[in-house]
Parts: sequence; structure tokens; C-alpha cells
Amino acid sequence: MNKQVLSILGATGSIGLSTLDVVARHPERFEVFALTGHRQVEKLAELCRQHAPRIAVVAGASEAQTLRELLGAGARTEVLHGASALDMVASAPEVTTVMAAIVGAAGLSSSLAAARAGKRLLLANKEALVMAGELFIDAVRAAGATLLPIDSEHNAIFQSLPAGFDYGLNQCGVRRIVLTASGGPFRTAAVDSLHTVTPDQACAHPNWVMGRKISVDSATMMNKGLEVIEARWLFGVPGERIGVLIHPESVIHSMVEYDDGSVLAQLGNPDMRTPIAHALSYPQRISAGVSPLNLAKVGRLTFEDPDFRRFPCLQLAYQALQAGGTAAASLNAANEEAVAAFLGGKLRFDRIAGTVGEVLEQASHASASSLGDVLDADARARHAARELIRAYA
Ligand code: NDP
Ligand code: MG
Repeated sequence: MNKQVLSILGATGSIGLSTLDVVARHPERFEVFALTGHRQVEKLAELCRQHAPRIAVVAGASEAQTLRELLGAGARTEVLHGASALDMVASAPEVTTVMAAIVGAAGLSSSLAAARAGKRLLLANKEALVMAGELFIDAVRAAGATLLPIDSEHNAIFQSLPAGFDYGLNQCGVRRIVLTASGGPFRTAAVDSLHTVTPDQACAHPNWVMGRKISVDSATMMNKGLEVIEARWLFGVPGERIGVLIHPESVIHSMVEYDDGSVLAQLGNPDMRTPIAHALSYPQRISAGVSPLNLAKVGRLTFEDPDFRRFPCLQLAYQALQAGGTAAASLNAANEEAVAAFLGGKLRFDRIAGTVGEVLEQASHASASSLGDVLDADARARHAARELIRAYA
């Protein structure tokens, strides 16, 4: 068995750490070439000591200097910094497999670099597909990259689709796909109480432990909206054939409905090491350290339709998908700005959706035929969002 040689982008984050946990269980299969972080230099130093990568990448020159000092003279790991170093480790010839787990638009360039280099690409960075889905999938096809979804819903759908799904929905007898959603911490809270929500309350997800940005997205259900757009590009399914179903237990990770009435789903405990291990070893299966699902203990699985009045961000994402072009890039950028402002105490939780909606309304949705178009839309939406947030303050 040839070892897979890995670059893990966003190694200091929640997905990065879960990836390293699975990797460390199978030293005969995986070798770590590069680990990247951004600001958590001490954590990255600790990971470098454990996994001895050839390269480590951090945000800037001062973080790089600190990391070199922490690792000491004679360390095996070369320390680099900046966005071009991320692109380099994502596309280096030695690397077979890239885990793209940087959060937000900051992950687009390196995810795309891995796709263009034809890597086996494990994609957690959903924002890259939301911003530039068509370009991204074209790059994957042109370079012959293997794109494997890490997002638990998309990984579940991937597992529930027939091999050869690339031939399209109709040829495979797929009627629609259904993304499940936990509904987050405010599924039953009074809508008129949401203006008092604090960052820590929004990040206290009932079932998953995740980074703070995606935790807030789960609380507004923008996360599910981004996932609808992600599914559109990953599976070539139009928005009207992608449904969302609230399932508070997070045991069924998503489903595929077929023309004959069959519904196939993937189940498991809510632990990201399952989709990570699946994608790392695909088409084989390896242990992930996840405890077996005990359905008798879970007892009951429940479901409800999402309420767009409670979760306006979900509706905004469907609207952006419908509008096409750069609308999804504008949605994503406005959301990143609004979430960062909320986490920084500068925007009320219940104003995240209003900010994104207003930016989306103002934006002209140009065609997204080049990366330049996408980055322009991203910059314009961020500017508009910041103005609105300032006006709210
Ligand atoms: P975290 O916030 O836990 O980690 C983010 C990682 O990205 C960290 O390593 C961070 O470095 C790095 N990073 C942050 N900003 C930059 C930047 N500007 N340039 C380079 N690197 C940067 O996020 P998660 O692990 O939760 O999420 C990662 C991605 O995976 C997101 O796109 C998310 O939507 C997706 N995802 C996550 C899931 C989860 O369970 N956590 C589930 C499904 C999808 P540092 O911390 O050192 O500053
Ligand atoms: Mg998900």
C-alpha cells in the first residue's frame, strides 16, 4: 500500500485536529507533509512536535519567527508564512492528498490550488464552493482531481448515491436530496428573544463541537443555506431538488430520495471523524475512534420542516442560488462580515440576516465566469456589509 502524503490546511482548527486524530491511528497509511495554522502558533508547534511535518505555514512573518523559536534549532520542520505558502503546500508535487479545512473565503485560493494540481482533495471549506462553485468544479474536472466531501451532510449524500453519479440525477433515478439540520441552539427559542443572544450562547451547539464561525452559522441556519449551495455544485443538483429537514438528534446525516420511493441515508454518532475517515480511506473503510451508534439508547428520531421566518438566512441562501452568478459569493462575504461583527460584539445576533439580506439586495449579480469576478463581488459585499454594521452600531 502506497502511503498518502498529506497537507492539512487549517490543522489548528476543529476539523484539522479531528483529521490528525484519525491520521495518528493509521501511521502505516498516512504521512504528514505540511500542517498550516494562522494565529495559534503554540498549538501548531505542539502539532509539529507530534507529527514532524516537512513544512508548517502560519499567518505572517512574526508568527513564523515565534514558531521557529518554539521548534528550536535543528527542527525537521521548515516554517513558511502567507497565502502563497498555503497554495504551495496545497499543490506541492510530493503531496497526494489535501485536507482543505481553513474557515471562510480565506480557504478559497489554496483549495483551488489543490484542485488545479489534481490532488485527492478532502473539502471541508464549504465557503470555497459557495463562492466559486462552477469554477471550482471545472478545475476539478480539468485536472482530474478527486473531490471528496467532508461536510457530514455531503459526505452522507456521497455515501448514499450510486457509484457513477457523475452521469447525472435522472440517469441514476435520483428524485431529490434532503439535507438534515439540527436546528441549532435556538430551534425552539422565542424569535423575539434572539436580540439578546451572546456569542457564547450562539456557539453552544447542542450536538457538534465546531469552530466559532460555523457554530454561529448553525445557529442562524446560514450553515444549512451554504450547504444547499455546496450540494448544488458537488452533486450537480438544482436548488429545487435540494430539501432541508430539521432533525434535532443529528443521527441521520442526510438522505437521497429515489424515483422508486426508496430513501437511502447514512447514520452515525455526530462526530466529524466519521466523514474524515471515510474520505481519507475511500473507497476502503478504516477505524475512526468513533463510538458505535446505539439506536436503542437514542430511542427516537424526530423531524420537522424549517421555518423561514425563524431562519431567514436559509431562505436568503436559496434566493442567492436562484439568482446565480456572483450572488452566492456576495451572500457568503456579507455573512462572514456579519458573523465576525457579531462575535466581536459589534452586531446583534438577530441583525445578521438583515445585514446579509440588505447586501444581497444591493448587489448586482454579475456572471461568475472568472476568479476576478468572484473576488470583486466578495470585496464589494464586504464593504457594503461593513457600512450597514456601522450604521446599526
Ligand atoms: P476553526 O475555526 O476551528 O479552524 C479554522 C482553521 O483555519 C484554523 O486552523 C485557523 O488557524 C485557520 N485560519 C483561520 N483564518 C485563516 C486565514 N485567514 N488564513 C489561513 N488560515 C486561517 O474552523 P472549523 O475547523 O470548525 O471549520 C473549518 C472549515 O470546515 C469551515 O469551512 C467549516 O465550515 C467547515 N466545516 C466544519 C465542521 C466542524 O465540525 N467544525 C463541519 C463541517 C464543515 P488558527 O486557529 O491557527 O488561527
Ligand atoms: Mg454540515
